[in-house]
Amino acid sequence: MTLLGSGIFKGMAVTFRNFVGSYFHRERLPTNDYSWRTEGSLPQHAGDYPKEEGEQLRDTTTVTNYSRNFPMLLHDGSEPMDTIRCVACQICERSCPPQCIYIEKSTEKKEDSSGKMQFYPATFDIDVSVCMSCQICVEVCPFDAIVMNSQFELSTPNRFGGLLLHQGDLLKSNDYYHKIHPEEAAARDKRIADEKTAKEAKKKAAAEAAKKKAEAKAGAETEAGDEKKEVAE
Ligand code: SF4
Ligand code: SF4
Repeated sequence: MTLLGSGIFKGMAVTFRNFVGSYFHRERLPTNDYSWRTEGSLPQHAGDYPKEEGEQLRDTTTVTNYSRNFPMLLHDGSEPMDTIRCVACQICERSCPPQCIYIEKSTEKKEDSSGKMQFYPATFDIDVSVCMSCQICVEVCPFDAIVMNSQFELSTPNRFGGLLLHQGDLLKSNDYYHKIHPEEAAARDKRIADEKTAKEAKKKAAAEAAKKKAEAKAGAETEAGDEKKEVAE
């Protein structure tokens, strides 16, 4: 049986151990250890850290599949801007409660990953010093283009510019999304595939109905023509 409140004492014991230890071991002084970085190599942009995608999945910094932090923009290929899903419709920008999304729509269209001509964001910034991680942008996006990242280590010595994430920082692959939120990403992919199948089936049914209607009309016209011919004879 665990004694009620014993967790508090355990936590205080860890703090006390580190407090005393910090007098003997320098590495116990900071909460976050950046001692391996030289002054000049401290992260200047949020995108500079972690160094590798998915670094937060290491044992020391693991977060659960269901955690979320700030939004990211999805793309479907190796060249992010060629397969970016966002079409710069600006629905998320208008829906964001603290208004921390800034989008500039492109002036021209380009092909998306399905070959359809679409607008794309010329600029897409999110100020994560303001973002409250509410996920409303994700819920309102009609293109499954924005989802929540779980990357939490965004430390930067630049309090203002460093926390303004630009398109390059925000763009992440669908594979990365599967790595950090496997269940959610699989469910989203399945829904997208089901919707596509249903849309294609509806289109096919509509085309078949139109074809049948045209055939029936042509048949009726031929019949009427034959009748007229008979009357004339
Ligand atoms: S992320 Fe979605 S809602 Fe926001 S601009 Fe892009 S397509 Fe529109
Ligand atoms: S998570 Fe909420 S606050 Fe952050 S950008 Fe999206 S809508 Fe705005």
